Amino acid sequence: MEITLTPKPHFVVIPWLATSHLIPIVDIACLLAAHGAAVTVITTPINAQLVQSRVNRSGDLVTSGITVTSIPFPVADAGLPEGCERVDNVPSPDMVPRFFDAAMQFGDAVAHHCRFMSPRRPNCIIAGIAHTWAHVMARELGTPCFIFHGFCAFSLLCCEYLKRHKPHEAVASLDEHFDVPAMPPFKCRLTGRQLPVQFQTSCAFKDRLGDYREFELAVNGIVVNSFEELEHDCTARLAAATGKKVFAVGPVSLCRSPTLHDSDAASDDAKRCMVWLDAKKPKSVLYVSFGSAGRMPPAQLMQLGMALVSCPWPVLWVIKGADSLPDDVKSWLQQNTDADGVADSQCLAVRGWAPQVAILSHPAVGGFLTHCGWGSTLESIAAGVPMAAWPFSAEQFINEKLIVDVIGIGVSIGVTKPTEGLLTGGKDGDGGGGEEKAEVGAEQVKRALKSLMDGGVEGEERIKKVEELKAKANHVLQENGSSYMNLDKLIQSAI
Ligand code: UDP
Repeated sequence: MEITLTPKPHFVVIPWLATSHLIPIVDIACLLAAHGAAVTVITTPINAQLVQSRVNRSGDLVTSGITVTSIPFPVADAGLPEGCERVDNVPSPDMVPRFFDAAMQFGDAVAHHCRFMSPRRPNCIIAGIAHTWAHVMARELGTPCFIFHGFCAFSLLCCEYLKRHKPHEAVASLDEHFDVPAMPPFKCRLTGRQLPVQFQTSCAFKDRLGDYREFELAVNGIVVNSFEELEHDCTARLAAATGKKVFAVGPVSLCRSPTLHDSDAASDDAKRCMVWLDAKKPKSVLYVSFGSAGRMPPAQLMQLGMALVSCPWPVLWVIKGADSLPDDVKSWLQQNTDADGVADSQCLAVRGWAPQVAILSHPAVGGFLTHCGWGSTLESIAAGVPMAAWPFSAEQFINEKLIVDVIGIGVSIGVTKPTEGLLTGGKDGDGGGGEEKAEVGAEQVKRALKSLMDGGVEGEERIKKVEELKAKANHVLQENGSSYMNLDKLIQSAI
């Protein structure tokens, strides 16, 4: 009898060029490979190194199923500094449009590669949010195209509501509250200032929002780094609201062991963190980090710092952009925090890249002060760590509502305005909160942290909920778990 073997479907995965997009979408690629798909990740030369090192840490089965293809990024043509291949490395807001121009040119080169150079045509494309050209390429190749936003289903649902009903345009000021009743009976109460960048008048890529919408409407489906049991019925609601298939395939960070691998351990910062944590009691440490690029204005950083150094709990604090802080803040940090990882120090300050997934899964960590980026939020849930929410920008104020009010696994610091960001156009924009004066004082921070780390009955309840979610998170990617089955469905949709 002749047996016909169906070839494995070939996924082409094109991450949006931002650190926090690359991390989860490459993990999605790894999960697809682990489920038997052939995967090509197409990215720029500098990002290809990052992608390859992540792939290499995922075991032989995955590594052999993934090809990383690098295509030059036209920085010189766009007038960007050499090596500027991620939007978070763009030196100033006025250069952001140039980055998007370069990304469009990159898209032409990717399409040319897929049409004429690639040894095998894709059966399915998964593209990051701002690669708005991807659906045109997919149509020409005759393949389905899926979008990866990096947001959770709840935030995507709220954004869909905002795009359709525009409640933010009916209020008189950026500080007036309105409801986003995307998931009744829960009302998500926000102000205009707290909305994701595309809803801000100061958005640095306003003229591209039409392309974004066209892309969203043209795709065959949405891939979400989340799991169905986490966000109530948000994935089903999102599918109904958009008319698209929605595949929740996370938490994707669980695609590999959280322990440090050799390449991670090579970083001194990573080693220092782990050795310092090893010397702490279980669940005693407060971990503080604001994502891949979150920076606070100096006055705000000082208020946070004063709260952290007076905490009774050991603190592991990741500070981005420390080199560009004013001298007085730098010397305060030097005097009040430990940069070397002395085992008995109270506040370890990490100025580089921290091994976040390994930190969160260390038994010493008992709470996470986070900016509510979705990657960080889900990593915290997967590790069973409750959160204190300090949203900075993007969809993080919406995620805060999910963490604190919907799921009940965190406390709010009480931040009302965004912290200055590259994509909101910084200080000049309506949305940029880059003020000299701190919005949140040290005492306010301390109160919220006490509730997180030492919150009595309510604190116990939060811990219980997040530990239940951790157990579910660890189940969903195993055989017959919801995310496992959604990965299989995603692969089936390409056959
Ligand atoms: N991250 C990390 N070390 C750092 C800072 C960030 O590993 O020092 C990782 C973190 O684990 C997460 C991602 O970077 O996967 C940040 O993504 P998130 O969506 O939370 O925030 P964003 O960077 O988009 O603001």
